[in-house]
Amino acid sequence: MSLIDLASANADEAARQMGICNACRYCEGLCAVFPAMEERRTFGLGDVDYLANLCHNCGACYHDCQYAPPHEFAVNVPVAFADLREESYARYAWPGAFAGLFARNGLIIALLTALSVALFIAGFVAFNDPGALFAVQTGEGAFYALMPHNTMVALFGTVFVYALLAMAMSLRTFWRATGGGSVSLAALREAAASAARLRNLDGGGIGCMNEDDTPTDNRRFYHHATFYGFLLCLASTSLGTVYHYAFGWQAPYPVTSPVVILGTLGGIGLLIGPAGLYHAKRTRAAELKAASPGGMDVAFLAMLFLTSLTGLALLVLRDTAAMGSLLAIHLGVVFALFLTMPYGKFVHGLYRFAALVRHATEQKADAP
Ligand code: SF4
Ligand code: SF4
Repeated sequence: MSLIDLASANADEAARQMGICNACRYCEGLCAVFPAMEERRTFGLGDVDYLANLCHNCGACYHDCQYAPPHEFAVNVPVAFADLREESYARYAWPGAFAGLFARNGLIIALLTALSVALFIAGFVAFNDPGALFAVQTGEGAFYALMPHNTMVALFGTVFVYALLAMAMSLRTFWRATGGGSVSLAALREAAASAARLRNLDGGGIGCMNEDDTPTDNRRFYHHATFYGFLLCLASTSLGTVYHYAFGWQAPYPVTSPVVILGTLGGIGLLIGPAGLYHAKRTRAAELKAASPGGMDVAFLAMLFLTSLTGLALLVLRDTAAMGSLLAIHLGVVFALFLTMPYGKFVHGLYRFAALVRHATEQKADAP
């Protein structure tokens, strides 16, 4: 097997293992990775980055592998791909000068969160007198008594547009490096269906390997709770924006409002999902844990959990003197989440989706 265009020890190792798997092919029914591998004879950097991001880390191929350690071939595809995936996020970061943020991701997120919360508290005090932070404020528009709506929109709009731009540029580089080409609507539809059901996290139909060799669907459930929780929160925020601009209805909204109902359901998902994924990560069998420290995963899960916790606390205590402080903490956490999105674990969803689109495209090209 000739290995071309390899840039790192992790990429070399993934290519070595794919060379063995491509000769063996025992696991071809387990997930999308093995059929995608069979499309290739050599594994350049773009190929292994693509396959690593197509892998959903279910662990099934490790448990099925006759060449896993202590065999001298030492095949452990989930770990080889997990290490390479983390490295690939930095490789495609935009701008490239920020790629190093991935390596110190946990520390940077913690610092930026603390700084953002402090800035929102300072901002609230600057817009009002210091006592306003602890005053009881209720009714429509209560949040904007602490910071004008337009100021909030300008702050969050700027950081959100930057995050979208950075992620779009990263995604474009990834797509080109892993083969480029056009995208059909049918491939997009198929990738979306696969992502929505996490088809590749089912261990070939029996569930995901986690703490031992008994498969369960726990990780898929917690991943779903996180993903759909995030989407519901996004829907809640978007609907709130429509209410504000189209109807002139100002937050906070009554608990029976669809904005609050969507946000609450999403918030519950974002408590259960990240907590469950963190537990699954902690208890995962040692042989399935990536060699890299994994601080990025924990930082991302912590940010999602904190976003939800502070949002729900604000909902419960919004008619009390704690509202001002809780609003500042919640906005600070969300602001830091947006700011660090392009340089943390959030990008795994983008690259994995792009890999699913490529896989669907290749499968359609092969279809008779
Ligand atoms: S993981 Fe092991 S059993 Fe599965 S295809 Fe690769 S070498 Fe074969
Ligand atoms: S998705 Fe599961 S079976 Fe497929 S390569 Fe990754 S760990 Fe192996």
